[in-house]
Amino acid sequence: MSLVAPSLTPSAGADAGDASRRRSSVTTLELLSRLRRAIGLTGMLFSAAAIVLGLMSFAVSIGYDQINDDLRFVRAQRAIGLEIQTAGENLDRIAVGLLGGKLSQRTMTESVTLLVQWENAAKRFFAICPDILPQPNDLTRRVEHLCTEFALFSQRFEPALQKYAETGAVVSEDLYSALLDVSKRTGQTAQAIDSAFTTRYAELVDSHNRFAPAMLVSTVGFLFAGVILIIVLARAATRHHVASQAAIAASVDAQRSRQQLLDAIATLPVGFALYDRDERLVLFNQASSDMTAGGLTPQDVGVRYETLLDRAIEVVQSREPERDFDEVRAANVARFRRRDAVTEERTEAAGRSFRYINSRTADGGTVVIKADITTLKQSEAVALANERKYQSLVNSLADTVFSLDREGSFTYVSDRVVDLLGYRADELLGRSVLEVFHPLDRPLLAGVVTQLRAARGKVEAFTCRLLRKDGGYRLTEIRVAAPEKHANGGGEWAMIGIGRNVEAQHQMERSLHDRMERLNSIVQSTGAFFLLVGRDLRVVMANNGFLEFAGAREEEIVARPFTEIVNCPIEPAVIDAWLAAEPDQELQPLALDGPLVNTRGETRTIRFTVNPVRGDSGRVEHIVLLGVDETDRRRTELELFNASRLATLGEMASGIAHEINQPLAVICLAAEYLLDELRETADATLVGESRPFIDEQCTRIIAQAERAATIIRDLRGFARKPDEASERIDVRIALRTAANMVSEQLRLAGVKIERDVSAECPAIFGHASRLQQVIINLILNARDAILDGTARTGSIVLRARATPLPGQVAIIVEDDGPGIPDHVLPRLFEPFFTTKPTGKGTGLGLSISYQIVRNMGGSIVADNRPEGGARFTITLNAAPEPADEVTQTAA
Ligand code: ADP
Repeated sequence: MSLVAPSLTPSAGADAGDASRRRSSVTTLELLSRLRRAIGLTGMLFSAAAIVLGLMSFAVSIGYDQINDDLRFVRAQRAIGLEIQTAGENLDRIAVGLLGGKLSQRTMTESVTLLVQWENAAKRFFAICPDILPQPNDLTRRVEHLCTEFALFSQRFEPALQKYAETGAVVSEDLYSALLDVSKRTGQTAQAIDSAFTTRYAELVDSHNRFAPAMLVSTVGFLFAGVILIIVLARAATRHHVASQAAIAASVDAQRSRQQLLDAIATLPVGFALYDRDERLVLFNQASSDMTAGGLTPQDVGVRYETLLDRAIEVVQSREPERDFDEVRAANVARFRRRDAVTEERTEAAGRSFRYINSRTADGGTVVIKADITTLKQSEAVALANERKYQSLVNSLADTVFSLDREGSFTYVSDRVVDLLGYRADELLGRSVLEVFHPLDRPLLAGVVTQLRAARGKVEAFTCRLLRKDGGYRLTEIRVAAPEKHANGGGEWAMIGIGRNVEAQHQMERSLHDRMERLNSIVQSTGAFFLLVGRDLRVVMANNGFLEFAGAREEEIVARPFTEIVNCPIEPAVIDAWLAAEPDQELQPLALDGPLVNTRGETRTIRFTVNPVRGDSGRVEHIVLLGVDETDRRRTELELFNASRLATLGEMASGIAHEINQPLAVICLAAEYLLDELRETADATLVGESRPFIDEQCTRIIAQAERAATIIRDLRGFARKPDEASERIDVRIALRTAANMVSEQLRLAGVKIERDVSAECPAIFGHASRLQQVIINLILNARDAILDGTARTGSIVLRARATPLPGQVAIIVEDDGPGIPDHVLPRLFEPFFTTKPTGKGTGLGLSISYQIVRNMGGSIVADNRPEGGARFTITLNAAPEPADEVTQTAA
């Protein structure tokens, strides 16, 4: 690209005219100001002083020179006077010589020379007299006269002298007299001259002497001021030199900058043309030429704009002959001549778009910039299309998109805001975001804004209440960010974000939360143990029931392998199969028992139901172990089973007893009868030697029949219904009676018995004889056990007291025998269970006792004492106080 620029400034003639106008307008004050800038105030003062002193010195020196000249002339006059005087005196001597006739040739020659000298002196005097004495005065006239006379005399005297020299003829008397006269007057004149010039000389010397100090002072002052002025001027010159150097450098820089500017204009991608105030082209760049129909050439510089326009129109018209270009021309000229800066965009031929920027220069010229913005326009069109596309995209979102400026006012809101807040998007533009924030949530927004400013680009999400146009509010999740500066839309928006209506989601979450809470409370409050195990077979969660049972905190259990926590005998293969199961594969839960030790060290029987739990993908994500402590239930079940078996047995026993009782009575009666007969028969021969044997056998039959009758009686007692009338029993009396009944047997067996009954022990309600039967049973069992033990002696203690549980009384029978073996304990209360040899034990004692106590509404348990021996504990309901009893009866 090239730039055609013959001159960037107006013509030289115009320049000169301006310069002269400027010069003429320079005032004295401006001159002084410039001088002051050039040499400074000091320089100006010293310049003024030097000028004044110089003038003074000049004036003084002129006067002084005059005096000196005068002195010189006066001295010359005096010297001439002296010469005249000397000439006069010589004339005298000549006269004397003439008179004495003693004039020699030499004297004569000298006399002639003297005469010539005198004459010359007179002439010189005469010549200089006008200089000293401008007005002819007496003295001059005398000198003049004398000169004339002397001349005349010389004319006479010279021949006389010549004659005297040649012949020795004496000079005449007249001549001699004349000579004397001339000599005499010469002397007088010389004296007059001397006296006249002596006065004048004295005056001049006086003037000279008076002038000398002034001359000295003015000369010294002039010199001093001159020196200072030279210094000031030298400094000013130095400064001026430096300034001029800087000016030169600046000028070079300016030249370079100008060149750079020209180069820059040449390389501009836009057309650039400069016209002067007369609308003549001054310079243009290649781009401008390219954008002008027909182009521009260097010869066009100086051509008027309209001429160039017409030429370009001609070129275009040749291509588009049917088009009317009058309007185009008028529009171009009008734009060109507008005084203010004009920016105009036009789409011209071939769909190309141009932007014209016309502006005025300071000197009245015009700059025309023409940019080809076709690509820009196309990009704008694409951007606009994109914006519309994104706009429709944004509006199709379920969320509301918005942007805020730095003041927190909406700069953009997508149309979805109508659904969210009931406002139209344009209603919110320019309004503060605070207006739609619930007052209680505004501090939340302030906090978020602070966080966003601290971490630009980070997205903050929060849920808040936004006020709707109808006055209600909408729970909205807002995700907002303050984009980094480079991505912040040119600073247009400070924050951008989306708002999402989460009302329904929130409600769903709330109900889900409530359901979870309920589920959790069920899981936590249920008596069952709940363990959730992950795919890694480690515990994910344990409920409070389990934690309390195991006496552990959740963090001690969570993440541990569940097999360490529960001793649940699940086959590893089953679990592997569950974890590898396909989504549609049916999986069966397991139910199995696992013993667990509780915090009291008791081993409890837990029934675990183990369930695989599938996740959304259908694979097994968790395993749930639901454990129930079945120890008590199983015991109760066993007890129930035993009870029902006892009941059945009781029924059976009752029937058997009834059936056997009759034959047994017959057997007994028959045996007794036979024995009676045998004893009453006198005939000993009847039975002979067999008599004692028969006697013995009959006695045995009777004994065994009675024993069988006893058992049957017991069995009938076992089967007796508990609906007999209960009574208030004093435990103390009951225990004493029972102990008394067996005291003899115990004494014989060498077993001691003690009673330890608390004075506050309440009475119980039941059947006194049955209770005594139970206690006697327990005492006799204790005795048997003691006697079975290695010590074969020991003691039994009967205790009775109120239990810690109100309304209950405990009766304890304990011994220091060998205790109950472990394998016997579970079967202790089974009917017919006995460890005693056949014939001794029936195995009914404890089962009957159990039944009796149950019928009285109590319970009986057996265990071993830590110090050795067995302990049987009967718990019975305490009898109400008599007053209560009355009330109860009445009721
Ligand atoms: P029996 O006394 O006829 O054997 P029980 O029902 O009264 O029938 O007792 C059943 C069993 O309980 C006894 O055989 C004995 O083994 C055991 N037993 C009862 N009391 C005690 C005790 N105090 N010490 C040790 N074992 C006992």
